[in-house]
Amino acid sequence: MESAGAVVEGRYWHALDDGQLQCDLCPRYCRLRDGQRGLCFVRARQGEAVVLTTYGRSSGFCVDPIEKKPLNHFLPGTPVLSFGTAGCNLACRFCQNWDISKSREFDTLADAAAPEQIARAALDLDCRSVAFTYNDPVIFLEYAVDVAQACRELGLKSVAVTAGYVCDEPRAEFFANVDAANVDLKAFSDDFYRKVCSGRLDPVLETLRYLVHETAVWLEVTTLLIPGQNDSDAELHAASRWIAEHLGPDVPWHFTAFHPDYRMRDTPPTPASTLSRARQIAKTYGLRYVYTGNVHDELGGSTPCHACGETLIGRDWYVLTRWNLTDDGRCRSCGEVCAGIFDGSPGTWGARRMPVRLGGVEAPPSP
Ligand code: SF4
Repeated sequence: MESAGAVVEGRYWHALDDGQLQCDLCPRYCRLRDGQRGLCFVRARQGEAVVLTTYGRSSGFCVDPIEKKPLNHFLPGTPVLSFGTAGCNLACRFCQNWDISKSREFDTLADAAAPEQIARAALDLDCRSVAFTYNDPVIFLEYAVDVAQACRELGLKSVAVTAGYVCDEPRAEFFANVDAANVDLKAFSDDFYRKVCSGRLDPVLETLRYLVHETAVWLEVTTLLIPGQNDSDAELHAASRWIAEHLGPDVPWHFTAFHPDYRMRDTPPTPASTLSRARQIAKTYGLRYVYTGNVHDELGGSTPCHACGETLIGRDWYVLTRWNLTDDGRCRSCGEVCAGIFDGSPGTWGARRMPVRLGGVEAPPSP
């Protein structure tokens, strides 16, 4: 493994006949001349190789509730050591983390840490997992994989929060190393992906299918609903139908609210009624675990037993309000299995967010 702050050669690229090097990590396939950076900005051509320029560098570390990723069926109530780097391979006009994802300066990369240091810190902080989040970990794959492996050596899990915009071979390497993923399904329209995100829908659907059918990774899906952009009944029906058919009823789906940001400051915030409408539509397709996120909605945030209707896990935003599961994840009322990764009693981390600097916990817990 590399030490913190190193430039490492990327694993997925090849030379073209015209002398350019093509990055094969994501479906953008950036073609690079010497000194050029890809759209993600963190991968660049240096001489005769494509390198990752942000190995071991982070935009900051924070202990979060796992529910914030969001993951509702993966070690509920536990703290997760979260970090990101800089850059992104999509260019979403509504990005809610644009200061990190569109960073062109590495001044956001204030913290540095080797993979073993991150895993050790997570253990010392009583976290059950480490999350790659804030920006897309696909673009720092070599670093993320090393961190995930260091976590496994210490008995910790790792979590990827990603848009799933990645090519086949790196997809397989990346997800062989992580234990859970929340994949953004930004819309169910290729037109939206092209116009609003500068991407395409198909590779994302392929990642979702791959995760369910070819890996043991625990998957949850998130869709940020943007008024007038991706929230029509027709689109929600089409997406729900696809998820039911291709992913099955047990993959949790989170609908979250948009707040005006970045290049979409003129679009209004998502009303709570839109989240509820989306949830109702998804449930008509037999999807068992559909959530409304980043709003106070105890019904839309709680996990029901799909067999008897009992509330298995009550939630108010990130706080667990009820627990009705056995240690191996069954309904205490009827014995039916709840899909997910459960391990005994739930954690008690609550909604706290605790920024940390590696090498020493710096800030006190904040509510
Ligand atoms: S990972 Fe970055 S450099 Fe590689 S193809 Fe995607 S955007 Fe381009």
